Order: sequence, then C-alpha cells, then structure tokens
Amino acid sequence: CADRVSHFVQDVWSVFSPLAVKTGAVNLGQGFPNFPPPQFIKDAAAKSIGPDLNNQYAHPKGHLPLRKEIAATFSPLYGRKLDVEKNILVTAGANEAIFATLSAYLNPGDECIMMEPFFDQYEPNITLNGGKPVYVPLRLHHKKGAKVSDNDSAADWTLDIDELKAHITDRSKVIIINTPHNPIGKVFSAEELRAIGQVAIDHNLLIIADEVYERLVYGDKEHVRIATLSQELWERTVTIGSAGKTFAVTGWRLGWALGPESIIQNILNAHTRIVFCANAPLQFAVADALHEANKRNYYATQVSEYAARREKLLACFKDLGLRVTVPDGSYFILVDTSRIAIPADEWKEICAVPMPSTNRDWRVCYWLTTKIGVAAIPPSSFYSPENAHLAENLARFCFCKTEETLDQAVAALQKLK
Ligand code: GLN
Repeated sequence: CADRVSHFVQDVWSVFSPLAVKTGAVNLGQGFPNFPPPQFIKDAAAKSIGPDLNNQYAHPKGHLPLRKEIAATFSPLYGRKLDVEKNILVTAGANEAIFATLSAYLNPGDECIMMEPFFDQYEPNITLNGGKPVYVPLRLHHKKGAKVSDNDSAADWTLDIDELKAHITDRSKVIIINTPHNPIGKVFSAEELRAIGQVAIDHNLLIIADEVYERLVYGDKEHVRIATLSQELWERTVTIGSAGKTFAVTGWRLGWALGPESIIQNILNAHTRIVFCANAPLQFAVADALHEANKRNYYATQVSEYAARREKLLACFKDLGLRVTVPDGSYFILVDTSRIAIPADEWKEICAVPMPSTNRDWRVCYWLTTKIGVAAIPPSSFYSPENAHLAENLARFCFCKTEETLDQAVAALQKLK
C-alpha cells in the first residue's frame, strides 16, 4: 500500500470496541451515546426519505433548508448574520470538515500545530494531505497545596504560550483548537483563546476551531467561540460543528463548517472533490431538528442529563479514591490510574498480550477491560510518540451512556476497591 497509510497501526477504536464486545465489558471507551436520539430527530429522519428527490444528491454546500436552519441557530451566537451562500458548508461529519479544510490549505511540508492530547483523527488528516503535524502539549499543573487525592480541574491543563511560539516556523500554516476538549474536557477561556488567537494573527495561521462538544458545557463554564472574539479572528477561523454530537446521532456523519466567505469557498472546493456532498436525506432531518431544538429548549435539557451522568461517574471515582480531571465540557473523564493496585500475575499476563502500543496506559486499559469489565481508552493514542509518556498514568472514560450502563460500570469498578 501507499507510504501515506503503511505506517498506520491498528487504531485505538478498533482495538477497544471489539475487545469490549468480545469480553462483555461495559463500554466506556469509544465516545458514542447508547441512549436513544431525541424522538423529534428520529421522526424527522423517518419523514426525510419520503419525497423521492430527497434521496438524490444535495447541493455540495448542503441543502438550503439546512443551511438556513444553521444560519438561524448560529447567527445569534456569532453576533453576525451568517449568509447561507457564503458562510456555511455542510460536511460528511465534523471529521470530513477538518479533512477538507486541511486539504484546502496545506501544501506539502506545511505545518499544522495541535495541542496534545489531541483527538487522534487530526494527525492522519494532516499527513494524508501532505502536511506535517507539530505538537504542543497542554500540561497539567496541580493546584498549589493539592493533596494526591485531590481532583484536578480541566482548567488546570494549560498551554504555555511561549512553548507554542517556540514551535512556530516559516512553514507553520494552521492551528487546531479543540474546545470543549476531547479527552481533557477543558473549556478554553476567552483569555486563553485571545492569547492563542494573537499568535495565529502574528504568524498568519488559519485557525480550525473544532467545537463539536459546544452544547456540552457544565456548571458555570461558558463555551467561548474564538471566531467571535474579534473581526481579525473571525477572518482567519473556520469553526466546525457536529450534528452527531449535538443530537446523539454520531453515525449520521453530518457536520458543518462556519466561517468567512473566502475560507468556506476554499474548503468547498476540496469538499466537492472529496465527497461531492454530504448524506442528502438526513440533512432535512437535521434541519428540522435544529428548528425543533430551539422551540423545545432541547440543549438545556440535554446538558442537564449529561451533567447527571458526569456526576455519577465522578462520584464513583471519588469513592474509589482515584484522582481525576473534572471535565468542564465534552463527555470524557481522565482518570489517574497510578494508584490502582494491579495483581502482579495479571499484569504479567497483560504484558504478554500483543497490542499496537506497549505504553502503560494501553496495558492498564486492556486490564480494566478484560479483568474489571469496563472498557476505557488509553490517552497516549492522543499523543505523539515523543510525548506518549505523559499519558502513561491516564485512562479516558466516557459518560455518554444510559443510566443503566453507567450503573453497571460503577458496579464493576467496585472490584478496584
Ligand atoms: N469522538 C469519539 C471519541 O473520541 C469517537 C471517535 C471515533 O470513533 N473515531 O471517543
């Protein structure tokens, strides 16, 4: 096969999801909801394939009714009137939006900066488009005076702006900012985004703002859209959103890119040649769902349900005496596994199992899945090989699951006591 794919080892999802199925473990690994999507979006989907022409290609930019609903939903959030012809592109999931953006902007050898840990699809999206990934870690700084048992907050993971600047070269072209963040659950503050944005302005970088978890922000935190912070930032930012994350339909593969006309036009040129258009009939369903969501106060209800799931899992880890990063957004919890006592014989057994990585976190997650009965994701998959050690004592658990599933996980995790 081609060099561009020959180095791809088996990805983390295709190891842990099948392993969870095979072993019957409760799957808190891959982040997909196992509760039903809202009835109104299922009803809309059932209707959407009725009219014959709905089943044919959509406009490459996306069906107009969906672009209109996206404009109606997001214009107030951006404080500007989004133009359905100029500022909106419907994509085959958020991932394709990112892929098409990188395809539209990277020349061979151009560099794309991302923060570690990063959602693992970013890296192949960069390299498949001829770019070079450049990594700058978010670092966890325990609060002053914190005890080893004290939880960290997602806000304790910070980017050192000087470290970011040190990674800028004359090939730097793009920076990806993911807020709310997978896997940390960090919600970047306006101040942090302004500082990163200033670096992007000073070095003429395109900003890809991956905001797919924008509707899942907890407590008194607020999601800040970097594109709204100044006209200069709007002009160099494409913001990516996801119907899958917004309406618990991750398999629909529908997302969108919002931004200024010139950027959207460039992405459209790539998108048209990659997929031509996104899934057509379900675009009508997402249009209806965006309309209904506002009428029904759906986002507030959804976030309170997620907050309860988050509380349940946080309470479980507290009870087990495991330190975690308390997420302010998204649906993941990073757990510090260093205090888990793993029996020596079981550890030896796990170490003999061939897996794509020998990092400690892979082995711990394999042990959690096979011996404890709860699947989690090893976060070193979200780091470059140089920095994978930063994740050796971490495991990522997701809480986008039914109450029943979470109760089963909590019951199984009692074995850690
Ligand atoms: N975004 C989800 C996660 O991080 C799943 C991604 C995937 O399956 N590729 O868990």
